[in-house]
Amino acid sequence: MQQIRQYVETRKEQLKAQIAKLERAPFLVIVQVNDDEASNTYIRGKLADAAEVGINAELLKLPTTISEGELLDEITALNHDNSVDGFIVQMPLPKHISEEKVKQAVGPSKDVDGFHPMSLFNPCTPLGVMNYLTEQGVSFEGKNALVIGRSNIVGKPMAKLLLQANANVTVVHSRTKEKDLRNYVKNADIIVVAVGIKHFLNKTFTYKKEAIVVDVGINRQAGITYGDAESDLPIYFQTPVPGGVGLLTRLTLLENLLEGYNNGI
Ligand code: NAD
Repeated sequence: MQQIRQYVETRKEQLKAQIAKLERAPFLVIVQVNDDEASNTYIRGKLADAAEVGINAELLKLPTTISEGELLDEITALNHDNSVDGFIVQMPLPKHISEEKVKQAVGPSKDVDGFHPMSLFNPCTPLGVMNYLTEQGVSFEGKNALVIGRSNIVGKPMAKLLLQANANVTVVHSRTKEKDLRNYVKNADIIVVAVGIKHFLNKTFTYKKEAIVVDVGINRQAGITYGDAESDLPIYFQTPVPGGVGLLTRLTLLENLLEGYNNGI
């Protein structure tokens, strides 16, 4: 399998060439309503990615004192602005604003994060994972796929996409009995782990030797980033952390935005 870094570089080159041929640069707006350091880093990354492929990206930084109503008005304005191909609202939001209400307010045709239940887009992390595995020639049909974690932005949409690709999908979560979890892991061909616990999957589990592990976890400890899976598991292939799924997520935001541009024509 090709390393994710290399795959992402190639895809970005392709995107750049596609975008260069368009009549105008696609336009992405990132709405920020926090002073969060991690958010600042993510946003810098997203702006840099966009610039790299020729997407016009703008940060709309709003004061953290903004009321929920005022923020919803800003979102409505973006929904109606024909020059905007897609926009995202960077989480977290201040405590006095409902994240759920904000996610529901983003128009499904502009929701390039894919957070709205009716969004025309799939969430970036699971879609990025599927695109990568598919591009690597991984076959899903009749395979045992195990998704560990059931969040709305990773676990659930990941399971949906794997099911659409005809895998036999099992989703496990915090209430799954450990004995059962170990059994599911033992029989899985493809495991996507999105739990948020350092080295949750480790060498105490038994794996199929041809298994693939996709490690979504990002766990920061003392300035070091760890995945949800220990490295060097006795399997066919596992994605690294860092330099793995995070890059796929970033890439897929650009791909969704380009799709938004094409939908608008
Ligand atoms: P979340 O906290 O919303 O969900 C975690 C899930 O793990 C829950 O569904 C829970 O049921 C499950 N879980 C918790 N303990 C468990 C246990 N003992 N056994 C089985 N399942 C258990 O998290 P999330 O938003 O889905 O993110 C998961 C991880 O992925 C985090 O580390 C997050 O930082 C990371 N993440 C990475 C990217 C990326 O681009 N690489 C994107 C999103 C999230």
